[in-house]
Amino acid sequence: LPPDRMDTEGYLKRRNSVIPRSLSLSYNRPIVMQRAAFQYMFNHRGDRFLDAYNNIMLVGHCHPKVVEATSSVLSRINTNTRYLYDEILDYSERLLGYFPPSLSRVFIVNSGSAATDLALRLSKAYTGKNKVLALEHGYHGNTLAGIEVSHYKHKEGESYPNTLVCPMPKIFGKGYPDDGTAGRHYAELCRTLLESHPKEVGAFIAESIMGCGGQVPLPQEFLSEVYNMVRRQGGVCISDEVQVGFGRLGSWNWGYEKYNVVPDLVILGKPMGNGHPIGAVVTTEEIASVFDAGPEFFSSFGGNPVSCAAGDAVLRVLEDEGLREHARATGDYLKKCFEDLGSNFSSIADVRGDGLFLGIELSDPMGRPNTQLARELKNRLREEHILIGTDGPDDNVLKIKPPLPFNTENCDELTSHMARILKKHNAS
Ligand code: PMP
Repeated sequence: LPPDRMDTEGYLKRRNSVIPRSLSLSYNRPIVMQRAAFQYMFNHRGDRFLDAYNNIMLVGHCHPKVVEATSSVLSRINTNTRYLYDEILDYSERLLGYFPPSLSRVFIVNSGSAATDLALRLSKAYTGKNKVLALEHGYHGNTLAGIEVSHYKHKEGESYPNTLVCPMPKIFGKGYPDDGTAGRHYAELCRTLLESHPKEVGAFIAESIMGCGGQVPLPQEFLSEVYNMVRRQGGVCISDEVQVGFGRLGSWNWGYEKYNVVPDLVILGKPMGNGHPIGAVVTTEEIASVFDAGPEFFSSFGGNPVSCAAGDAVLRVLEDEGLREHARATGDYLKKCFEDLGSNFSSIADVRGDGLFLGIELSDPMGRPNTQLARELKNRLREEHILIGTDGPDDNVLKIKPPLPFNTENCDELTSHMARILKKHNAS
């Protein structure tokens, strides 16, 4: 075996003897990763990989200011919310400054899944209703309650009687034509679902741009219509901002802002701590108070000073380095590069998304989902040391969501390699 194969085989053997196989590995040839900085990762041989995929490392892998802030608190104190300390107050005040005044309370937890679970619990306690309206192909978390509302993880034949699933409000492809009426069309489908269970729905949960569903923005008017319907029958509205939040979209801090709505609860995670495990539910004072009478809400690690220092450093770096504006400009540039690629290669059927959260949907000559080409591109790019992912119900959407320091040179590197692979593919 060549030395690279040999190393990988050794890792795989050890891994398979302790880690369940349900935890997947990326790429046909998994990578042994050892170091990372900003938009670059390095394997055990020191080879550089361009990371166009990891939305968690928002301000860049191992950003020195985040590392410094986190380790300095870690070496001084780590404790929990039953004591008073500056870090949770500084961070909560700074974070809530990014939300409208109605969203004035934050529960800090340790993951997106924990945040989803808590948001659902709060909604049920507040409304007294158990049913949840969710979107087809949505993903919200790995807990029992999270899976129940995550159609993406539902297996054929499984039944979740408390979850009502609205068809994915997608404009392109199998979805609805882009004639301006899609939002209302899908909202009407929600109305039918709501009316079939009169006044039983306590919460509506949706990602503001669907990640696992294949980088699908919601059609305009969909959220505003559904929010009204859900609230009218006594439910609350949850926006899952785990994948797209914290300025990645360029024009907005949070995806819901794109649709001019204000949710009752917001779920945060992934980029919140730039890799440090922290998530949150941001909500109204009224909803947050439903647990006030007890039993106590407590999380051993949620809101600890080290996590709060990580979160606070992320927000400071975002501001100091103007990364949201950078995501908008770089995202516009990259989207244009992909659109240009689309005019040369008919397999690129749709380019969508905002800022540095883009999806490229691939079709075959008959207009069917081209899953095979998506896999080929992902794996060929990996061989050329560029990291991207694929997703969507047919796994035919390339997911581009890099650390925000990603620059126009990186965009050129990514798209020129893609062009070469597509040209070779067409010739073969
Ligand atoms: N919501 C969305 C939209 C997600 O993408 C994810 C993670 N993929 C989660 C929630 C769950 O977050 P975590 O993996 O941190 O539990």
